[in-house]
Amino acid sequence: MAKYTLPELPYDYAALEPSISGKIMELHHSKHHQAYVTGANTALEQLAEARESGNLANVNKLEKDLAFNLGGHVNHSIFWTNLAPAGNGGGGEPEGELRAAIDEFFGGFDKFQAHFTAAATGIQGSGWAVLSWDPIGAQLIIQQLFDQQSNTAQGTVPIFQLDMWEHAFYLDYLNVKADYVKAAWNIANWANVAQRFETAREKTSGLLVLS
Ligand code: MN
Repeated sequence: MAKYTLPELPYDYAALEPSISGKIMELHHSKHHQAYVTGANTALEQLAEARESGNLANVNKLEKDLAFNLGGHVNHSIFWTNLAPAGNGGGGEPEGELRAAIDEFFGGFDKFQAHFTAAATGIQGSGWAVLSWDPIGAQLIIQQLFDQQSNTAQGTVPIFQLDMWEHAFYLDYLNVKADYVKAAWNIANWANVAQRFETAREKTSGLLVLS
C-alpha cells in the first residue's frame, strides 16, 4: 500500500517573511501538514483492515477521514510550491499563457485578484481559496474549498491555492484576513502556477466525458 510522506519545503521556514513568519511555517509544515499525512495513512490502513475482517461498520467515518486527511496532504503540498520568497521567485504578476487566460476568464489580473481575495476572506469556517482549471468548460475558475475537501467539483485541477485556515495566518495577522491575502501576493510563485496550468490543460483534455 502506498504510504504518504511529508514533502520537504523548497525553501527555509523563514524564507517567506515578512508575509508569513518562520514560526507559522514551521508549525504549519512540521505539525499540521504532518498530521494530515499521518491521518491519511491511518485511514487507508483502517480501511484495509476493515476489508480484511469484513467489519465495514465504520466505513462512513473512515471515508470521511480519508477525504479530510488526504485533502489536507494534497492542499498543503500544492500550497508550498505555489509560494516563493518575495523577489526570489515570489511576487509580481503572471505572464505568458497563464496571464492571457487570467485576462480572458476574469477580465484582467486586478479583477482576478479582487475575486480571489473576496472568495478567500469570505469563506465561512475553515477552508481555502483555489484557482482551478475546469476541464469540462476548458476555463479557469475560482472555488471556495471548505475544510480540506468540500464544495469543489470533481475533476477540477487546483493550480493556485491559499490556505485560509486560522492556523495559516492567525499568529501573524490575528483576525485581519485581508492583510494576509494582500501579503500573500508578494510570495505567489507564478512560475509554479504557470507550470501547473500548462500540465492541467494538457493532461486533462478528454479526461472527463459527460455523455
Ligand atoms: Mn493549513
